[in-house]
Amino acid sequence: MSRKPLIAGNWKMHGSLAAVDEFAAAMTAGGGIAGVDMLVCAPFVYLERCVRAFAGSALAVGGENLAAAVDAGAYTGEISGAMLADVGCSHVIVGHSERRALYGETDAVVAAKVNAAVAAGLRPIVCVGETLEQRDGGEAEAVLARQIRAVLEACDAQTLAALTIAYEPIWAIGTGRSATPEQAQAMHATIRQQIAANNGTLSRSIRLLYGGSVKPGNAAALFAGDDVDGALVGGASLKAASFMDIARAAT
Ligand code: PEP
Repeated sequence: MSRKPLIAGNWKMHGSLAAVDEFAAAMTAGGGIAGVDMLVCAPFVYLERCVRAFAGSALAVGGENLAAAVDAGAYTGEISGAMLADVGCSHVIVGHSERRALYGETDAVVAAKVNAAVAAGLRPIVCVGETLEQRDGGEAEAVLARQIRAVLEACDAQTLAALTIAYEPIWAIGTGRSATPEQAQAMHATIRQQIAANNGTLSRSIRLLYGGSVKPGNAAALFAGDDVDGALVGGASLKAASFMDIARAAT
């Protein structure tokens, strides 16, 4: 791993005020981990509490989604990038497979959200990944290429410089069945080559996270891949102890 690792948690629709405080107490007591960036992405309503509660720790805070619209307006139920930045978020997840599958987010919407995030001063973590059917059908690389091209073509160099990509094979998310370290490294190398075809500088600097059933027990092996620069962690990020163990495995 030649880039500084990032371990990002995705709490999804989990948590409570009490859970935020409990997590923060454990993190503050544990301190930071030298050489590793750590981030928790939490439900909107808990973000401000996270920012306050994590203030003494090394944890950054991010949203799990944002509106594609940049300017305030009549978008009932939406949360803008500017609002996330206003409450102290530094990052935001964009295009998680659950948003793509359950809420109809297309590649074009994902690209628009990346632009909206960076316009608000946030660092987007864009999720890409194939279904099991696509993998079995030999289409995984083409799916990733399509998802990544949509972002590369819609964003300028300054926007792309703020980007992190999370490779999350859909068959590995929340299933307990992680990609093997070899599969993860191979797909990360493919993603880096796909980016290099457009932008050589970006391909060397961009952090590529692996996501899909990362646990303390498999993290170190996954992070051994040269092109694996950390993880986007779902279930195992809900407890500070397992999140910290995963972050330690990145050192
Ligand atoms: C995720 O939510 O992005 C994720 C990877 O979940 P899990 O770690 O639970 O598979």
